[in-house]
Amino acid sequence: MSRDVELRFAQSQWDQLYNHLYPGDEREHAAVVLAALVQRPSQTPRLLVREVLLAQDGVDYGVSPQGHGRLSATFINRAIVRARNEKLVYLHVHNHGSDRSVEFSDVDYASHERGYPALLDIAKGMPVGALVFGLRSLQIDLWWSKTERGRLKYCTVVSSRIQRLYSSPSRAPKAAYRPSVDRQVRFLGEAGQAHLAGARVAVVGLGGVGSMAVQDLARMGVGDLVLIDSDKFEETNLSRVVTAIFRDIAHKPPKTELAARYARLVNPNVRCEVIEDDVTYEDVADKLVDCDFIFLCADTMRARLVVNAIVNQHLIPAVQVGSKILLSKEGGNLEQLYSVVRHMRPGCGCLLCNGLISGYRLAIEEKSEADWRAQNYGAETPNPSVITLNGIGASRATNDFLMDFVGTDVNRPAAAYYRYDVFKGTWLKTNLRHDKDCSECSGDTESRFARGSGVRLPCRQRAEKASNTLSRIASVMRDLWSAWMQPSASTQAGTTK
Ligand SMILES: [Zn+2]
Ligand SMILES: [Zn+2]
Repeated sequence: MSRDVELRFAQSQWDQLYNHLYPGDEREHAAVVLAALVQRPSQTPRLLVREVLLAQDGVDYGVSPQGHGRLSATFINRAIVRARNEKLVYLHVHNHGSDRSVEFSDVDYASHERGYPALLDIAKGMPVGALVFGLRSLQIDLWWSKTERGRLKYCTVVSSRIQRLYSSPSRAPKAAYRPSVDRQVRFLGEAGQAHLAGARVAVVGLGGVGSMAVQDLARMGVGDLVLIDSDKFEETNLSRVVTAIFRDIAHKPPKTELAARYARLVNPNVRCEVIEDDVTYEDVADKLVDCDFIFLCADTMRARLVVNAIVNQHLIPAVQVGSKILLSKEGGNLEQLYSVVRHMRPGCGCLLCNGLISGYRLAIEEKSEADWRAQNYGAETPNPSVITLNGIGASRATNDFLMDFVGTDVNRPAAAYYRYDVFKGTWLKTNLRHDKDCSECSGDTESRFARGSGVRLPCRQRAEKASNTLSRIASVMRDLWSAWMQPSASTQAGTTK
């Protein structure tokens, strides 16, 4: 019996390990990686690499005259005890000199047979195993137990680009030919199209920006869409929600239904998971943790907080898209007019490090309507919004997704934040700031980085009482206080519905 797994790396752990294995000396090197295990019904189990422990040649790792490498007992012991204590999967790593295909040798397998039953006893319920690297390939021998083994389905490296590696080219999926995507396949290749068809992509927020993202994703042939929004469609949305038509005004259907209807009309093969609910509830957020990519097109601070956590905790790439039309209070003069596209990648600087999760706004969002009025915040007036500005952000985001995700040979810049300023007619780029102690994206022992389901997401609970809400706000504020910025126009740029 075998259960295949997906292995996921963030850029920094991948670079650290790969540079150690292939320093240019054409020799064998070794390491141990500790990975969180995420298992969900009917989905491929994921191993999320949280930490890389490099074995120092000649101290922790030696190669016999016959060419067989061996980790020292002390090194193995330290690593397996940590894996057990932190509920992580222990994976021994070494490299071969092959390129696009790699497989363990008979000697490798024999050493697993000798060593892993004892390691499983120490690991107390967590699987253990080995990874072998080729230059552009990877294989796993995962011991779920003494009787059940698993192999690699594929490995995903989440850097600015999202790369896939297999144990051999024959393991990569193939796309069935469809004339509807013929012109696109001429550009992306069959492998790229197959990759899109196998992708599970979430769109959170299906208003002006999110509906446009769905339009592009459905037409380009993404196989699985997870569509999340708690709102019903209204007449005031018709000028921007591109999945709606005039007669929808009479029925006020959920925005999720409109998005799914559109996607199915374009591509009858698409699978849509429709969730008419708020992503900030734990059971809804949980639907995102097996996605391959997330479009965050809802603009509440809590949605940012939750998706930011998922990106770092589950190593899932995302993009936040929004637009802003700011009028002066006095005369209604235009003060700001822009779209933003913010790439989110794990472990390299997040929305919190970059001052884009405002504690002030988070606290205001938590207020009930009665509290809101009692404290004289006044009625929330709708923000101005226009389809053209939404389109700039949405198109940039889906194009960046395509370039980053499909792995074309196009050179891609590092993940960054982009803002299209209509007054200047230019895109302004901001490089990501990375707080080395960030609770979300740093390698700190307390950080949620690559912890998978081992820690809870910062979500609201279903049965949360008002008093609970207040104590949770206080606790979130304590946690985030040091990183918070005062509210400013730039932190509020987002999507209007
Ligand atoms: Zn080997
Ligand atoms: Zn951060």
